[in-house]
Amino acid sequence: MRAALAALALLAVPAFASEDIPDQYPQSVLYSKPVEFIPHVFTAIGATAPPTYENAGHNNNLSFIVTGDGVVVVNSGASYLLAKALHDEIKAVTEQPVKLVINENGQGHAMLGNNYWIAQGVPVLAHVDAAEEFADSAGQSMAALKSYARENAEGTDPMGPTETFTDKHEITMGDFRIEVLHLGPSHSPGDTQVWLPDQGLMIAGDIAFHERMPPIFEGTCTSCWIETWEGPLTALSPTYIIPGHGHPTNLAQVARYTHDYLVYLRGMIGAHLDAGGDLAGAYYVDQSPYAHLDTFEELATKNAGTVFAEMEFE
Ligand SMILES: [Zn+2]
Repeated sequence: MRAALAALALLAVPAFASEDIPDQYPQSVLYSKPVEFIPHVFTAIGATAPPTYENAGHNNNLSFIVTGDGVVVVNSGASYLLAKALHDEIKAVTEQPVKLVINENGQGHAMLGNNYWIAQGVPVLAHVDAAEEFADSAGQSMAALKSYARENAEGTDPMGPTETFTDKHEITMGDFRIEVLHLGPSHSPGDTQVWLPDQGLMIAGDIAFHERMPPIFEGTCTSCWIETWEGPLTALSPTYIIPGHGHPTNLAQVARYTHDYLVYLRGMIGAHLDAGGDLAGAYYVDQSPYAHLDTFEELATKNAGTVFAEMEFE
């Protein structure tokens, strides 16, 4: 009996992320099968790793809401085949048609699957700045997809959204009120949050990271990201968060690994600047409190250099 319980306990181990965990859904091009996080809201959690042949570019969260009168999808994924695979999963849980796709930002893994949905006659919505970002970078994103995903890039033809919004786009569909928001500058142009006020759930996109290090891009305003977090994001006080990357969780947890990381890194770079430090030294400020996060190796020094370049002229 005790042995049986111990075996059960082992099976019940929570799903920790690790970029070294191999594909969790070998039957599908998706990295993992969608889970229902709260009633009628599903997410297929991507690998907390860079895009690779093995994860087929499913390294961010692809979510959907079964509203009772149609399905709303958040992110078309990194390719036509990922969008199609997500659609297959949707069809396995509901007969309701997909009525809208929302892109969380202008990155390849948010938008490169758009042409699948557009071919199904489904409208695709994104923030106007995300659409512009994708128009500028789609060629590069497509080249990257072809090189890492190989045959899984098949069918992908970069297409932006069919509709754009600027501040806010409100939808009532079935049993859900859905607010598509741009709370302010954070990770990349036109970052979009999908807010379900009645459920207290935010499908946050890349304003919020969990279990892996956030990337800081050239041109990202980290002080603005912190302001957006402490202001409008915190004001909504979400109970549940589906972050852009990593398992669904709550605000306190994504705050530790996103907001608190940005504050920490700016503190370290600020002290380095005050001590007369240069760029070469900035790469090596101590980030050991975050060394357990996935993508630390790929991003930590790069992030430090980017924040140095940003703060040097503040
Ligand atoms: Zn992302």
